[in-house]
Amino acid sequence: KGAIAFKDVRFSYDPERPILKGISFEVPAGKTVAIVGPSGAGKSTISRLLYRFYDIQDGSITIDGQDVRDVTQRSLRAAIGMVPQDTVLFNDTVAYNIRYGRPNAGDAEVQKAAEIAQIDTFIKQLPDGYETRVGERGLKLSGGEKQRVAIARTILKAPPILILDEATSALDTTTEHEIQSALDKVSENRTTLVIAHRLSTVIGADEIIVLRAGEIAERGTHAGLLAEG
Ligand code: ADP
Ligand code: ADP
Repeated sequence: KGAIAFKDVRFSYDPERPILKGISFEVPAGKTVAIVGPSGAGKSTISRLLYRFYDIQDGSITIDGQDVRDVTQRSLRAAIGMVPQDTVLFNDTVAYNIRYGRPNAGDAEVQKAAEIAQIDTFIKQLPDGYETRVGERGLKLSGGEKQRVAIARTILKAPPILILDEATSALDTTTEHEIQSALDKVSENRTTLVIAHRLSTVIGADEIIVLRAGEIAERGTHAGLLAEG
């Protein structure tokens, strides 16, 4: 479930300046496709369009064959989970932040998600565990810990589609590797769109699309793109 198809998608924020110049690609259900390219190429715009923060000017975007314009904002949000570059947490408890998206989830489910996201160790060190507040007046979480909370939230929400938008790019190398292994678990068997600027972070993707100035410059597997040079 959650197959994504972009067909001849054109989009500009400003009519004078096209951002996406007719791009087509598919993410088959359960597969992972990565979009890589230099800053300003239009990568994040693709995820915003899938979410329908903006409407495209030409072409179509479908999920399981249904045009996103015919899907309610509410069901789009239920279908898509996002781990952004810098997760902003609510100034509330760890548990509240994990439950965001599924407020009625039980404690056992929250703990299971926390375990998979490998955040149990740091939660055990907090004075009130899951009930410790994060944010301004509470605990200061590191970038890696915040990403783990975002991952636990996504595991709990269990959306058919996952968007990882530079999810590890703000982290140091060691933390990046740890978070990457948690993300690999979440994206397994889930339709996943990865946005990254380095090829080295998307080795496992089923397809890699290289975007340059709003156009698909190259596409292939990691090994294939390396062989081409
Ligand atoms: P990438 O993710 O590849 O760095 P983006 O999709 O964020 O690229 O941006 C592509 C281009 O669109 C950039 O030139 C950027 O300045 C421009 N852009 C992004 N968001 C907006 C916006 N809200 N209004 C106008 N221009 C924007
Ligand atoms: P959603 O539709 O799930 O709210 P968004 O694209 O609005 O997704 O946000 C991206 C991510 O940031 C999601 O994981 C969402 O739960 C989280 N998020 C959105 N707004 C806030 C906020 N004000 N504070 C903390 N997290 C937020």
